[in-house]
Amino acid sequence: MEAIRMVEPGKPLELQHIPIPPASDEGVLVRVRAAGICHSDAHYRAGRSSMGMLPITLGHEIAGEVEWVGSKVTTVKAGDRVCLHYNISCRDCYHCGTGNEQFCTTVKMIGHHIDGGYAEYIAVPARNAISLPEEISFEEGATLMCASATALHALRKGRVKEGETVAIFGVGGLGMSAIQLAKALGAVEIYAVDIKLDKLELASEYGAIPINASRVDAVEEIRKLTKGKGVNVALEMIGLPKTMKQTIESLGVLGRAVIVGLSQTPLEIHPYQTLIGYEAEIIGSNDHLLQELPLLIDMARQKILDTSHVVSQRIPLDAEKINQRLDDLENYTDDVRAVIVQQD
Ligand SMILES: [Zn+2]
Ligand SMILES: [Zn+2]
Repeated sequence: MEAIRMVEPGKPLELQHIPIPPASDEGVLVRVRAAGICHSDAHYRAGRSSMGMLPITLGHEIAGEVEWVGSKVTTVKAGDRVCLHYNISCRDCYHCGTGNEQFCTTVKMIGHHIDGGYAEYIAVPARNAISLPEEISFEEGATLMCASATALHALRKGRVKEGETVAIFGVGGLGMSAIQLAKALGAVEIYAVDIKLDKLELASEYGAIPINASRVDAVEEIRKLTKGKGVNVALEMIGLPKTMKQTIESLGVLGRAVIVGLSQTPLEIHPYQTLIGYEAEIIGSNDHLLQELPLLIDMARQKILDTSHVVSQRIPLDAEKINQRLDDLENYTDDVRAVIVQQD
């Protein structure tokens, strides 16, 4: 089969012809129909993250059709439409046993530690294949597996309850999913903080109250709009110390700040004014869980979550085109989401 693979860090991905991977008794072979090109893939290609092996096929946002199932598989059958959870966990270690499988001591991420979806086929354990209803396209199914899933996990970590207020700092792909999911979880007022007008416009189409941080002080504005109370839950989806600080400062009494954006820079806060005085919490949110995906897919099926705007470019399984898209992500020239689409 054809696979577009990372051969050397910092070099363009290359087309290679490799054998179709064998699936185990408990595994499935999936014909890839859609594979999302993610910002993480640009980091991997650049060599900023250690890979499980080289060469390796990238791609962790995958949807397709089951081609073949192992003898012990009962959950899916050949011909089924599925999307794939990208973390393969052992199911036996302490973290797997306590339901936090993203911390599995031997977790392997598809397209990072083992071969991923920039290929014609992929073999995975059957439990990683989740049914994808007809109402959801393969492209949308693929993108649900990363940003939307991470947004849902973050809201669950923040324990968003009915009637609460939520502020979302950064309304790109993650934030846009978070707005819709927060609404579905019962949030009554959702503040969308960003500096890009087009994003703020789309956020208000989804029912959020836009706050343009290039014109106003986001924290002051949130205090004003909540009549001094602050919000119950605030999510940071950007990864900047400044916005992390604002996320925490926009909380009210018993508020929860959930940090999703990645940063290596130390964060300075005033413990009394921001935490102790409010009994506020700062919560880290990392990835998502297999058990959250069926709920997410159901929300997309019912159109509670609309990610139709997310996929803005469809490209074939072609090394040059994939490398171009990764260059764009690397240069921040735009944030359109491309998906590799394969038909017969
Ligand atoms: Zn991704
Ligand atoms: Zn484990």
